[in-house]
Amino acid sequence: MSHRVILTLWTDEKINEEETRILRKPSIAIPAPFDDERKRDIQTLVDTFLGRNDGVGLAAPQIGIARRIIVFKNKGFDEKIWSKSDKDYDVLINPRITQARGDMVTMPEGCLSCPEIQVEISRFPEIKVRAYDINGQKVSRRYTDYLARIVQHEMDHLDGKLIIDYDGDLYVPKKRQDFFAAF
Ligand SMILES: [Zn+2]
Repeated sequence: MSHRVILTLWTDEKINEEETRILRKPSIAIPAPFDDERKRDIQTLVDTFLGRNDGVGLAAPQIGIARRIIVFKNKGFDEKIWSKSDKDYDVLINPRITQARGDMVTMPEGCLSCPEIQVEISRFPEIKVRAYDINGQKVSRRYTDYLARIVQHEMDHLDGKLIIDYDGDLYVPKKRQDFFAAF
């Protein structure tokens, strides 16, 4: 198993300029069938995700891989410990939203790459996504509610878009307000 560190826009008192550049870079689509190097990229993302317990999803650029791969839990959001069986998470490669429905729902969102803060973001409550699965098979999936939100969040990462790009209310811990006032 190879794990990677998750890149963040800032640490304690400083902005991570190099990590920001990587997180901001749009990712490249992967052609199927996947070659060995891309299979390794996919597995590294999955292993890194499964190695942590503090996130519901992860996108490849967050670990410095500029490819259009996302992984996320698909159930058990309220459980502290999840089984991590391959039925409990989805891996999507080159995901594309083909349909978005319903009235936008606004909720605070956090991100492992934007530590400590939350931003109110409006998302569609229902989406249809076309993608490849982990084996390079074409799939079409429908996601609703919280899962639809996660997928839209992770897909944003593939375009270098982050929660701080939304203009909803920003929540910052009180003791850190001076630091974040600089944004
Ligand atoms: Zn994120």
